[in-house]
Amino acid sequence: MSSLKDTLGRTFPYLRLSVTDLCNFRCNYCLPDGCLEHNHKAALKLVEIKRLIHAFSQLGVEKIRITGGEPTLRHDFTDIVQTIKAAPGIHTVAMTTNGYKMDQCISAWLKAGIDAVNVSVDSLNPGAFSLITGHNRLQEILAGIKAGFELGLPVIKVNTVLMKGLNDGELSRFLAWIKDQPITLRLIELMETGDNHDFFNRHHVSGSTIRSQLIDLGWVRIARSRDAGPAQEYRHSDYQGRIGLITPYARDFCDDCNRLRVTSLGKLQLCLFGDQGIDLRDLLQHDHQQDALIERITSSLRLKKDSHFLDQGITGNTANLAQLGG
Ligand code: SAM
Ligand code: SF4
Repeated sequence: MSSLKDTLGRTFPYLRLSVTDLCNFRCNYCLPDGCLEHNHKAALKLVEIKRLIHAFSQLGVEKIRITGGEPTLRHDFTDIVQTIKAAPGIHTVAMTTNGYKMDQCISAWLKAGIDAVNVSVDSLNPGAFSLITGHNRLQEILAGIKAGFELGLPVIKVNTVLMKGLNDGELSRFLAWIKDQPITLRLIELMETGDNHDFFNRHHVSGSTIRSQLIDLGWVRIARSRDAGPAQEYRHSDYQGRIGLITPYARDFCDDCNRLRVTSLGKLQLCLFGDQGIDLRDLLQHDHQQDALIERITSSLRLKKDSHFLDQGITGNTANLAQLGG
C-alpha cells in the first residue's frame, strides 16, 4: 500500500517517469514542428533512475510507466527497463511509445521485463496517420502490435486522441479493429497545452460526446483497479477489446488521481498541468541520500492541488506533453 498521501487523502501507487523529452514524431497536437528544443543528453542517467525508483518503491509505488518524448530513443532503454524491474516492490513496468521501433524491438523489451505497452495510434488510415504524426509508419506500428501479441506481451493498449475533422469519423473503424483482439483502446480527449491553443479550439471533441456514442453502441462501464491509469473502462459482450475513456475535462477527473510524474531532468511534477516542478536531481547523486530524497518527495505531496484548472484554459507550465510524458 502506498504511504504517499496528499492532503485530500489520495494515495500514489503509480509513477510516470519520462526518460527523455526528445521525440522523432511531429504529432500535430503535440510537436507540430518536430522537437526543436530538447534536453536529451542531460536526461537522468541510469544510476539516477535506479536511486529514484528505489526511493519511490520504498514509498509504496508499485507501477512505473516509462514515457517521454519517445522513450525508446534512449540507447540504454532496455537497461532502464531492467533496472526498474529489479527494484523491490515494483510489480508492473509499463511504457508508452509511438511504436516506431516496436516490431524490431519488442522481444528485447520483453526480455528486459516490460509488462505492458501503450502504443499511440491516432488513425488506422495510413494517409490520416501520416498527416497527424508527420510519418508514414502505420504499417510498421501495426506490425509491432501484432508481434507483441505473438510474443505473449501481457497487456497491449492503444492510445488514440480523437480530434474533430481529423479522426473522429474513425470510431467505428477502431471498434471493428478491437472486436476480435484483446486490445484496450484508450480514447483520449484532446488537452489544451501552452503551444496548441488554436489547434485545440479547432479540433477538441468533448469526452461526454465520445461517452454518449459508446453508451449508444452498448458499451458498459466497469470498475477500475487501484493502480489503474486515469481511464474509465468500458466493455461490450460482442467485443474482445475494451475501451478506456480519458476525459480530463470531466468535473471529477482529479478526485481519484493516483499518479505522480518525474521529468527526464528529475523534477517531480505533482500534476500534468502544474506550475512548479520540485527538483529531485541533487538528491540522486549518491546512495546515502535516499532518506533525504524520500523526505523531499513526501513533504512535496503537501503542495499537490485538488485539481487542474484546464477548464479555465490554464495549462500551467506545460507547453506540450512531450515535455512531461503525457
Ligand atoms: N511519444 C510517446 C507516445 O506518443 O506514445 C510517449 C509520449 S506522448 C506525450 C504520451 C501520450 O500523450 C500519447 O498517447 C499522446 O497521444 C498523448 N498526448 C500528447 N499530447 C496530447 C494532448 N495535447 N492531448 C491529449 N493527449 C496528448
Ligand atoms: Fe512524439 Fe508522442 Fe508527442 Fe507524438 S505524442 S509528438 S510521438 S511525444
